[in-house]
Amino acid sequence: MRPGPKPQPLVHGTAVAYGKHKCRCDVCRAGNTRRKIQQYQDRRARVTADPSLVTHGTPNAANTWGCPCDQCRPIRAAIELAHANRRRGRGTDEPLTPMQRYKRIAPFGREWLDSVQ
Ligand SMILES: [Zn+2]
Ligand SMILES: [Zn+2]
Repeated sequence: MRPGPKPQPLVHGTAVAYGKHKCRCDVCRAGNTRRKIQQYQDRRARVTADPSLVTHGTPNAANTWGCPCDQCRPIRAAIELAHANRRRGRGTDEPLTPMQRYKRIAPFGREWLDSVQ
């Protein structure tokens, strides 16, 4: 009788370890950050080469795509300011309920949600 398939060893720093196995060790977190930066830079290069890819002046173009155009730059600045205010307010404000939290972040999409958690 053959033994069943052995469980795959977890390779830290990979998308599988972070996404599927939810490992949050230093190596996996660093790997995730590196992948996010890489994706962001790829998208930014694509939208710079072909600005018709996104609707400019939206949080999606400004934040997810990092579009550097004049319409998107102020939006990204506003989002960053909102982050900073949120960070500053943390611990002094009443904590938000999960639904309030969700409503605040929902307009910006899933990716933005991940980036601020
Ligand atoms: Zn890990
Ligand atoms: Zn733009």
